[in-house]
Amino acid sequence: MVGLARSGVAAARALKANGQVVFGVDSGEPGGTAVLRESGIDFETSTSGVDRLDGVATVVKSPGVPATAEVIRAAEERGIDVIGELELGWRLTPAPVVAVTGTNGKTTTTELTTHLIRSAGRPASAAGNVGHPLCEVAMEHAAGEDVGTVVCECSSFQLEDSELFSPEVAAFLNLRPDHLDRHGDMDRYREAKLRIFANQTDGDVAVLNADEPALAGVKTDAAEIRFTVAGASDAEITLEGERIMVDGEPLIETREMKILGRHNVANAMAGAAAALALGIEPAAVAEGLRSFPPVAHRYEPVAEIEGVLFINDSKATNVDATLAALGSSDRRLHLILGGSSKGESFDALVPAVAGACRGIYLIGETADEIGEALEPAGVEIVRYCEDLEAAVSEAAGAAIPGEAVLLSPACASFDQFADYEERGDAFRGYVEELDV
Ligand code: ADP
Repeated sequence: MVGLARSGVAAARALKANGQVVFGVDSGEPGGTAVLRESGIDFETSTSGVDRLDGVATVVKSPGVPATAEVIRAAEERGIDVIGELELGWRLTPAPVVAVTGTNGKTTTTELTTHLIRSAGRPASAAGNVGHPLCEVAMEHAAGEDVGTVVCECSSFQLEDSELFSPEVAAFLNLRPDHLDRHGDMDRYREAKLRIFANQTDGDVAVLNADEPALAGVKTDAAEIRFTVAGASDAEITLEGERIMVDGEPLIETREMKILGRHNVANAMAGAAAALALGIEPAAVAEGLRSFPPVAHRYEPVAEIEGVLFINDSKATNVDATLAALGSSDRRLHLILGGSSKGESFDALVPAVAGACRGIYLIGETADEIGEALEPAGVEIVRYCEDLEAAVSEAAGAAIPGEAVLLSPACASFDQFADYEERGDAFRGYVEELDV
């Protein structure tokens, strides 16, 4: 087992529970290895792992380990089978799987689909990138738990290492530049994600976003359901006014849902398509869509104070996610932006910022770069702020009733926070302090 963070640990334990002889290696010093010791699994940290390959039948690779890692290359050179954690978890889980991929919206759609299945009275588990590796579900299943239908969020890193992985339902949400640091170029990133459909057959269902140019012309071997919010002509799930339609029949009015924004209408369509593919009745799907609550840090309304709405979209770590947020509000916005760089250009934000924002509040490493890129937007208020607390305070001070303060940084958080969750929690905390 190469890579001993959460999914690596889960994979090692699942293999051991399956009666295999497992040895774990990690080039760093991951935190969660005590569990391995308790499970009687030997491992070595701070090692490349290359000198541990003798007698190895299969190398299981954590999604965090790049294909260029020395031990992976060495294993491949020796002809040792290399598989990913997702692939392993899938092989060990006999339950039906709904797989969800895309650049943005995976977690939301995974949680939403799980909710739709459960609210129709059937068991379901959310798995994958959402902090519950598929190998953990495999162990729960082996321990006799009814995991039900497994809805699995799949990153490009996991799909890249898949081989036989063949979900009963596979949904592809969208594709935008992200993680190009790891995949090298857009074509390889797209190819990795398209592996979600690679082994499907005609008994399976493929859910595709008809508005996504990167999916135009994609033909799968599964039965296909396409959805559109932009009025594409070849979709089964469509928007008529503000009503979601399935095969020309009304499903739900978007304003009946608690999740906000155009992008969440697309996510709701993808989740509904998956639930319908599983045989859940449209009325039950609509009921589940009505009761699904906003997911934390994803365009999540956290408070309304004196007519100003505060929205936590800390998970918007790329330009496309921020564009989705900017296209989602009727209110004039005071937008908090910036963080650590992923090397992406911010130019694409200019028209949306010009149209939606009365103020921008720039924080973190990328503040100057964003400020420069957004100059052509001609926003009324532009502030460079020392930190998030200062940005919340300035934005709240400037906003008038009817406007919104939106944290949607278009950047990762690592310059000032441990992760996007810590950043979103900090935002919520500063907003709560305003409300006293
Ligand atoms: P992922 O798991 O793919 O990162 P999330 O559901 O966690 O996706 O959402 C990540 C960010 O992307 C959030 O800021 C969210 O508001 C935004 N987002 C969610 N769905 C979409 C979508 N369909 N298109 C664009 N942005 C989206």
